[in-house]
Amino acid sequence: MTALTPMSLTQPDWAERSRQAVWHPCTQMKVHERFPPRAIVAAEGPWLIDDQGHRILDAVSSWWVNLFGHNFGPIREVITDQLGKLDHIMLAGLTHPPVVELSERLADLTGLGHAFYASDGASATEIALKMSAHSWRNLGQPEKHQFIGLQGGYHGETAGALSVTDIPLFREAYAPLLRLSATLPSPDPRHAAAGVSAEAHTQAAIDALAAYLAEHHTRTAALILEPLVQGAAGMAMYAPDYLVAVRELCDRYAVHWIADEIAVGFGRTGTLFAHQQARRADGSGVKPDFICLSKGLTGGVLPLSAVLTTDAVYVAFYDDRTVHGFLHSHSYTGNPLACRAALAVLDTFAARDADGHDVLSRNRVVAERFTQLTAPLRAHPRVKATRHLGMIWAWDIDTAEPTFAARYHRAALDAGLLLRPIGSTLYVMPPYVLTESDQRALAEGLVRVLDQVLAEIDALPVSSVSNAVPATDAVRMA
Ligand SMILES: *Cc1c(COP(=O)(O)O)cnc(C)c1O
Repeated sequence: MTALTPMSLTQPDWAERSRQAVWHPCTQMKVHERFPPRAIVAAEGPWLIDDQGHRILDAVSSWWVNLFGHNFGPIREVITDQLGKLDHIMLAGLTHPPVVELSERLADLTGLGHAFYASDGASATEIALKMSAHSWRNLGQPEKHQFIGLQGGYHGETAGALSVTDIPLFREAYAPLLRLSATLPSPDPRHAAAGVSAEAHTQAAIDALAAYLAEHHTRTAALILEPLVQGAAGMAMYAPDYLVAVRELCDRYAVHWIADEIAVGFGRTGTLFAHQQARRADGSGVKPDFICLSKGLTGGVLPLSAVLTTDAVYVAFYDDRTVHGFLHSHSYTGNPLACRAALAVLDTFAARDADGHDVLSRNRVVAERFTQLTAPLRAHPRVKATRHLGMIWAWDIDTAEPTFAARYHRAALDAGLLLRPIGSTLYVMPPYVLTESDQRALAEGLVRVLDQVLAEIDALPVSSVSNAVPATDAVRMA
């Protein structure tokens, strides 16, 4: 036991006390011996303020959750209001207005009319997987219980979610605990073989899925994927056409399609939900069988996740027999404060300003300007690939140095920017409320820090490079 020392009581060294008492997520704690965590004591809009009074621009939206900046008035107000009415109740046998309203509005927005709640993204993945397999069982097809994930896919880190996540670093130690899913090729065009076009690569991924389903559909419950952007794979962006093919193939072979919109939902990719960008030849849209939501659902303020599903899935459970019900629960399911925050998020998306602009159209203006401001990065001699969709930008940096991400993260913090590259992919996923001067500061800082870190790496003695951690040490680590 480490007791609080008199020193720590008189002088709150949050970083050191955190190092002693808090086990930080996705962190090799020993790294904090040399690089202690930064203590943040306040936040306003896209800015974080540390205990030394430094201002840090939150360019990754606090792990992709924040939409409208920190301390956003409309969310703060509804939570305060709800706190005076009803804080929390169990959702079994009871219900409350915020959860009913939120479910109705999510149904209107997605066409999936049944909402089940949890508190984090990984739990939403678990729920979707369990619901899918259980629904087939209830329908007399218990052998349909296998899942398909995509190469580089990320769906959370609880045991079930990890079994459909293709990030070896996160999975390896737990392999004996997991029942791994099938991993099929990603349409990410960066995987295309030399001389193969992005279109041909997408088609090859579709063909691989078709071939797998033709053989294994009788044992397959669902395919889970991140629509349009595979975040943890390094902001891999792929064509919406792939999703049209997924819908057709899943229909043909009676396999559920689970759209994990945990990171890409709520305007990140330019539409409210990413799968809405997929269009059939006749212009009609495609609808998943399950949609998982979290992260931006509450604007990044309170933990909440939801799984939305179809009448067909719901009806498979609707029965006189208890065991045919979906007997899954979390204590904080449908928390009223979190539901109110989510309703405020939906209100914010629905609102128009005096010029008739809504959040999505204002984001298009921000995105166009920020894309222009980052032109020097796109033209940088060490930038290999530039990608952009909605409010996500990514650049692959030409470096084999495994410590690039960690070095960049630390140098950026010193420069007043919160950025956590994934491997050698530098990316920006900012709150939607960046002013023009915030955007300039970010765009300039991105290049300045890149040059500084590359100079640092280029000056390394050759031997120190080979001793470093592997490059896959990447996803959420820095
Ligand atoms: C973050 C994320 C999850 C997991 O959500 P947690 O709340 O961190 O458990 C699942 N899927 C995707 C696509 C994510 O980005």
